[in-house]
Order: sequence, then C-alpha cells, then structure tokens
Amino acid sequence: MFPLSRKASHTGYNHEVRKAFGVMLNSTFIKRIACPVVLMTAVLTGTWVNAQFPGMPQPKHYAWSDASLSPDVRADLVMKEMTLEEKTLLVHGQGLSFFSAGPTESNGGAGFTKPIARLGIPAIQMADSAYGVTQGAARGRYSTALPNNLAAASAWDPQAAIEYGALIGRELRAEGYSMSLGGGVNLTREPRDGRTFEYQGEDPLLAGTLAGNFAKGVQSQNIIGDLKHYAMNDQESGRDAVNVNVDKRSMRETDLRAFEIALGISDAGGVMCSYNRVNGDYACENQYLLGEVLKKDFKFKGFVLSDWGGTHSAAKASHAGLDQEQPGAYFFGDDLKKAVESGEISQDELNDHVHRVLRTIFAVGLFDHPVTTQVPDVERGAALAQSIAEKSIVLLKNNGSVLPLVAVRTVAVIGGHADVAVLTGGGSAQVDAPGGSPIPPPPPTDMLSAFIRPVWMPSSPLRALRSKLPDAKVSYTSGDDPSAAAAAAKHADVAIVFAYQWEAENFDLPTLDLAAEQNKLIETVAEANPKTIVVLETGSPATMPWIDKVAGVVEAWYPGIRGSEALANILTGAVNPTGKLAVTFPKSDADLPHPKLILPPPESKPNYAGMTDFSDFMKIAAKGLPPFQIQYDEGLKVGYKWYDAEKKTVLFPFGFGLSYTAYAYSGLSVTPGNSTSVSFTVKNTGKRAGTEIAQIYASLPDSAGEPPKRLIGWTRIELASGESKQVSVPVSRDRLTVYDESTDSWKLVPGKYSIKVGGSSQDLPLEQTISF
Ligand code: BGC
Repeated sequence: MFPLSRKASHTGYNHEVRKAFGVMLNSTFIKRIACPVVLMTAVLTGTWVNAQFPGMPQPKHYAWSDASLSPDVRADLVMKEMTLEEKTLLVHGQGLSFFSAGPTESNGGAGFTKPIARLGIPAIQMADSAYGVTQGAARGRYSTALPNNLAAASAWDPQAAIEYGALIGRELRAEGYSMSLGGGVNLTREPRDGRTFEYQGEDPLLAGTLAGNFAKGVQSQNIIGDLKHYAMNDQESGRDAVNVNVDKRSMRETDLRAFEIALGISDAGGVMCSYNRVNGDYACENQYLLGEVLKKDFKFKGFVLSDWGGTHSAAKASHAGLDQEQPGAYFFGDDLKKAVESGEISQDELNDHVHRVLRTIFAVGLFDHPVTTQVPDVERGAALAQSIAEKSIVLLKNNGSVLPLVAVRTVAVIGGHADVAVLTGGGSAQVDAPGGSPIPPPPPTDMLSAFIRPVWMPSSPLRALRSKLPDAKVSYTSGDDPSAAAAAAKHADVAIVFAYQWEAENFDLPTLDLAAEQNKLIETVAEANPKTIVVLETGSPATMPWIDKVAGVVEAWYPGIRGSEALANILTGAVNPTGKLAVTFPKSDADLPHPKLILPPPESKPNYAGMTDFSDFMKIAAKGLPPFQIQYDEGLKVGYKWYDAEKKTVLFPFGFGLSYTAYAYSGLSVTPGNSTSVSFTVKNTGKRAGTEIAQIYASLPDSAGEPPKRLIGWTRIELASGESKQVSVPVSRDRLTVYDESTDSWKLVPGKYSIKVGGSSQDLPLEQTISF
C-alpha cells in the first residue's frame, strides 16, 4: 500500500507521526510492532491520511480497489457505476495551462482529464517529457535535462533507455503528474525535421526498441507512458495540413514497425495520434491507422489521445478509434454526447473509449499508487544524465589521435557559448534551465516565439575542461571575430571549435548546413591550426564542408545538464567514447530523398498573427487547413537504406562511431531457425578498455524487393585491452520478414539471406549466407 511505502517515508509523514507519539516512539516494541500496526489501521480506515492532510478525501474501498482483479475487470466494475456525464469526462481534456493559471484543477501540464472523486478515479495530469519534464519554470519546479532522445539513441542501450524513462517517470510523479507525453518514435525519414532531436533515429528496430524501453521505464514508476506521433508525422512544415501519401507496405515496415516494436516492449498506456493526414484522412480519424493497425493488428489496449488540436470530428474520429481528444472538448464534449444520445455513436463505442482509459489507469498502477509530490532527487538525475551523455557522444573523426587530449599545455576553446552553456532542443519538449538560460533567448515577437525559443543549459564546457586539465592553459574566445579566434588557435596546442544548430517543434531546418558564419569560423581556425577539433551540438545530422581540414570531430548533440562534464571526460580520455550514430550524416541536402523540403502553400499555413491565447492556436489546428501533398515515394528506403540503394556516399554512415581503442571481428556462425542465432567474436586490439556496439545486418533474397540491407540486431560488448569475447545474438523471425500487401500479413521470403556483422552499417567484415 502506498502510504507505507518508502516513498511516503520521505514526505515528512514520519516526522509528524513522531511528534504525535512523542518519546514513546523510542521503545523498540513501539517502533517495530505497535507503530506499524496503528499506522496500517489508520491508513486502511482513512483516518491517517486525513490527519496528515485535512480536507483530503479518505481512501475508500471500492469493488475495483481489489488489485488482484485484472485491469479489464476493474475497469468494467467502475463503468457499471458511471453516468454518461462521467464517461464523457474521460474522453476529452479540460484545457491548456501554458502561459496562464489555466484551469484550477490542472497541475500545470499540457493537458489533463478531470478526476471522478465519487468513484476514486484520479485525474490524468499530463506533461510533455521527451528528455525531461517540461514547463518547470512556470511552476517553480526543477527537472533533470537529460541528453536529447537522438543523443541517447546513440548509446544503443535498452537498459539505459529504461533508466532514462524511469527518471522521467519519477520526476513526473514528484511534480504531481501522472502521464508522460514523451516517447517520440517517428523515424528520421526527413533529417531536417525540427523534431529529429526528440526521436530515436532512422531504423525501426533501433528506434522501436529504445522508445519501447523508454516507455517501460516511465511506466515502472506507475506513470502512464505514451508513444507519439502516430503516424508518418516526419516533418514539421505544414504538419497540421499535410497529407502524406505512402503505400501500406512502406508504412508497415518503417514508421509503423517502430511503433509496433515499441508497443510490444512497453505496453504503453497512451498513443498520441498526429496532426497530419495519411492517405487522405487525418491520423486522428484514420480507420486504417487506428482501428485496423493499432488496435487490431498491434493489439493495443491503451487509449489513443489526439495531438493538441489534432481532433477534427466527433463521429468520424470516434468510429476510427480516437479515444480521447486533447487538450479540450471541441468535438469529444457536447458533440460526442449528442452523437451518443442520437445513436450516431453507439454506447458500445463510447464504452470502449472509456474502458481503455480506465483499464490503463489500473494497468500501470496509477490507481493503486496515487501520485504524491516530492522534491526531485537532483543529484541522482544529474548523475544519470552524465552517464547517458557519456554513452551518447559520438567521436566522428580523430586523425593522428588528436584526441584524447593528453600532455597538452594550451587549449583554445572557441565559440558556441562554450564558456557558459550547452544547447537544448525546443518546443513542447523544452526542459527549463535551472536559474534561467545563460544565453537569454531573443525577445519574443509573438505567442509562438515566446514558447519556442533557444534555451541553453548552464553547463560550461570551458569550466569542465579546465577542471579536467589542471596543468593546461585553457582559453576561451567567442568566435564572433574569426581572426581573433584564429590568433588564439595559432598559439595553442589544439583548438576546439564549438558549433551548433538549434532545432525545435513546429518548424524544420531549411538545410543540414550549419550557419555560414559557423562554417567560416571552423575553416578559419583550421587554417590557423591543423590540430582543430570541432564539437557539434546539433539535434540532426550536419554537413561538414571543412571535414578534410580538421583533425577531429565530436558530435555531442544536446547533451543535457551534465553535458559539459561528460564531454570533458570524452575529450580528455577519462571516458572512452562508445556512441554510434542512429542517423546517417549525408554529404549534402542534395543526397536526401527530397533534396528540397516540401513546404505548405500559403493557404495551408496557420495564421497565428495577433494571437495571445494558446487555446486559439489549438482552435486553428482543430478547424483544419486545406491539405497539401507529400509523396513519401522513397518508400522502404529510409535513412541508410536510401543511401545504400541509391549508392550515395555519405559523410558518416548509420551505426558509425570511433573509440580510443580498436576492435577486430572473427568467427561468425549463423544457425537459422525460428530464432536465428548469430555468434561471433570481438577482440579489443587496442591499449585501453572499451565497449563496442556490434551490429548485425541482413540482406534479403532479391525477390523480397527490399533495400540492400536492414539492421536485425546488435549487442554492446565490454572488453578490457586485449580481451576477446564470443557473443551470441538471437534474431527473431519477424526481423527478417516483409509485409505482403496482397494478404495483409508478414511473410518470410524463401531464398538466401546474407548475414553481416561489424562495427557500423558500412564496416561489416563478417558475412555468412543462410537459407530459409
Ligand atoms: C506536440 C505534442 C505535445 C503537445 C502538448 C503538440 O504541439 O506536437 O508532441 O505533446 O503539443 O504539448
């Protein structure tokens, strides 16, 4: 029972109880036996909670309080007691709290459903939480800024993804929330997508596995997890108007596959349908996506909630499978009630929506473990943020072993505000900077720019480097004047230029190129000192016209609250880099499937001018905009599959990342079966310990009509210097199947499969052919 759990013992209850019982508490009998018995009795009868929090409702015992019953049975028991009025409370939100006090029962997050006190059903208080809990500043709350999601994906570490999600779950709970709006798993089909930083890369197996483990971590804290944005919301430009045209097979094997894998791992309670249309219908009223695929084929038991303003009808959306409108009730309030009363929406259909919300509340344990607020454990969060950042940073180039920095006497740190901060990704995912952004955001020009603006985390690479290199002189130059930067670089043993690309929800990057002045700064510094290292803080891949002129490149992403400490550990060699890219870095925009971003025509663009209330923004989205078309005709060829198939050379391939040691692969043995076993040996041939992320790819028989290869598994292997390990990775059958549109099912194509193993998608020294 929760009030007697360890959580409760940190809330000050014990202190109060001690005062009440006075010195008696010092007796062993009282401490060990009498006190727990009295407390238990008080809790069960409800008097204890009331004494601690006068005015709080007493816990009651309902038929559905019995935790031994299944979530479905418990939900049905509640539903028997519910009025139509109460049922409709669970199928829509109650308004938005951003920028205003908001509805009084809101906890201050993006949305919430009302509690039904009479039946003991708690509110669902939702907060965005992609890389930490958002909107902390609005309520004076602290939350940990973890490295962004694409960064964390570079760790290829499901266990770390669970810990990442669990930390977010814990902090949501501590801040009074009961549902996460994180779990972005859209594939990086368009790397200029302004939310690339919130997603988990371009491969469905990797992204789905990591997002699934993230949601599992959230739900381990009895907080509802969410996966979003379902589906094909792969660019932000015109997201609320665009109609994505894509064939079924491509969808099933790419973006939808990632959701399927993530759901299989997590049983996430929520799936957020996206703003865009797919093959003619809005995602939130798309019978194929919601009814057929998600609920029938994926056997999703939780509830579908609309993206904010993404509901466009009552009956059509309800029939298709939308369970809950957010953040308000433009359609799922009175309209839906009337439709139920008139019979346009059947009672059964409404009951299904309500059942899904209720069974989720029981299934994740929210009912049995009500949320209690708490001061977040700041140190624990920071320590995890640092350890994940250390696994996330990717060493991309290291000519002449310019890194790690050993025996350097002078280091010129240049640009990127590296004296004070690291960058974060923006939009609804934004985690607020403790103490405010060290680089003040530009003054807002309208409501949107007040919400979506660059925020920097107070974590200083310069300070962290100085502390790791106590004997070196580490200087800082802003980089505003490239010649001053070059002068500083010339006299230093090494120069480290910090470059960045900010991205955020609601807009895309016009290009993968860094700003011209940043490229110029890098070129100028590299001319002055060949030992120039570039540290990138980006949320997407970046092009590098200067790549041949610099000695080192490190992708640090948006590394979070302890990003600088992690980075300094990597740069100085205290930590050996292990991160590998979850996205391809192409050479230029021209190599992308759509070299030019497809932008909405003027009539499909929302007009936010003069808006002062965020609800108006939602109204515009809900009303709908004239569609414009995108053809995702690259189909199955997402990410590395595109570059492989089109034979385009890339800057850095998917799965690539260097280390300060080296690995050798040998001894591949593949045994085909229902679960195919792939065994091989990896040896650390270098001088220091490291962790290799070994990857397994398969080329399917030609008749399958697939791109040249796909990722089918990986493993992280820790190796001391000189150590070898044989590993065996099971590959389930479904990793080799293709979607057959003619039968609407998955099939294993008979023929020869080439299984390849190595350290990146383009470095696969081992190969064996098997047949099915
Ligand atoms: C975003 C969602 C987010 C929601 C609530 C929308 O604009 O697309 O990802 O969860 O707002 O903040």
